Amino acid sequence: MRVACLGAGQLGRMLALAGYPLGIELEFYDRSADTPGGQVGPIVTGEFDDIRQLKALARRADVVTFDWENVPVTSLRALKGIAPIYPQPSALAVAQDRVLEKKLFTQLGIPTPGFFAVESEADLLAAIQHIGLPGILKTRRMGYDGKGQYRITKRSDVAAALAVLGGQALIYEGFIRFSREVSLIAVRSKTGELAYYPLSENSHHEGILQSTRAPFKAPSLQRLAERYLRTVLEHFSYVGVLAIEFFVADGRLIANEMAPRVHNSGHWTIEGAVTSQFENHLRAILGWPLGSTKARGHSAMLNFIGTLPERKGLLAQPGVHLHDYGKREARAGRKLGHATIVADSSLARDRALQTLSRQLTPSTRRRARRP
Ligand code: AMP
Repeated sequence: MRVACLGAGQLGRMLALAGYPLGIELEFYDRSADTPGGQVGPIVTGEFDDIRQLKALARRADVVTFDWENVPVTSLRALKGIAPIYPQPSALAVAQDRVLEKKLFTQLGIPTPGFFAVESEADLLAAIQHIGLPGILKTRRMGYDGKGQYRITKRSDVAAALAVLGGQALIYEGFIRFSREVSLIAVRSKTGELAYYPLSENSHHEGILQSTRAPFKAPSLQRLAERYLRTVLEHFSYVGVLAIEFFVADGRLIANEMAPRVHNSGHWTIEGAVTSQFENHLRAILGWPLGSTKARGHSAMLNFIGTLPERKGLLAQPGVHLHDYGKREARAGRKLGHATIVADSSLARDRALQTLSRQLTPSTRRRARRP
């Protein structure tokens, strides 16, 4: 079985690694060969609008998928009729535009922050009037890991916000005073079979996911999140893994965004669930039976951002699994790898996560403790 994967980042790499035991080979497509995916599987290089090359790739594949959310939808649509494309380009088109995404949530009865499309200063002033302060101004497209966002707390922030983000389509969202951030990962197979992972609790810093703990046990929120995900999956007759990030505020779930692909908050499932999100994505898009999404214990995942810890010290901690994405260039804010711990209790898991985090940034933490 051959799956063509547009984008060869760490998500693609983990998909390929999950595919090998099942006899699935991923063939990647990206701009450069020296990518996390390209290091573990065959890769074709080219631009994402090179339809001729993309068509040749699709002809060799049983199914086409993607690990990058900004693959041009027009390129995917050009492959129609050559090989099935999952998740569907229609879901990707919505996920690429924060306004379309929030309109869909509203249409499907899923709570989401108040929002207003912004193209000009007049729009932004109207948005503030309508939604109130504080709020967040975000780019409608191409935003990820907190990039392309500006927090507005007072009217006089408008000029500075537009100086940073102006000149492109924007969205103004009401600021949610949340108690937690959680996400739910679901998977729907070509046959219509559905499965949900337990909720994950996520911790962000400057818009980037730092750590995830799962399962986050809150039966009523789990049921609610599953209902919301099912509505979206059925709306698109979706095939593959879908993640939705939620804010928890006053015991309610408020949808922030959806990702039509495997998701960083599901990396713990590699060691912490009976079947990983990566394996289940492949099973789903090939129409194979899904594997159990049950948690094996209490898991924590810690992202390595900007630097990778010293390997020996990390692996000396019992129960730690390291995932190095093979990126040669370390840059601030760049996800280079992650570690997962699976423990028998949530207490043991939280302690192990604390030890791991301390190991990662001992000097920063020492500095931070000084008055
Ligand atoms: P995003 O790129 O939309 O996922 O935003 C990155 C992070 O910024 C989120 O995980 C939140 O921590 C924060 N954030 C984004 N939108 C809002 C909002 N409307 N209210 C409060 N916090 C937000």
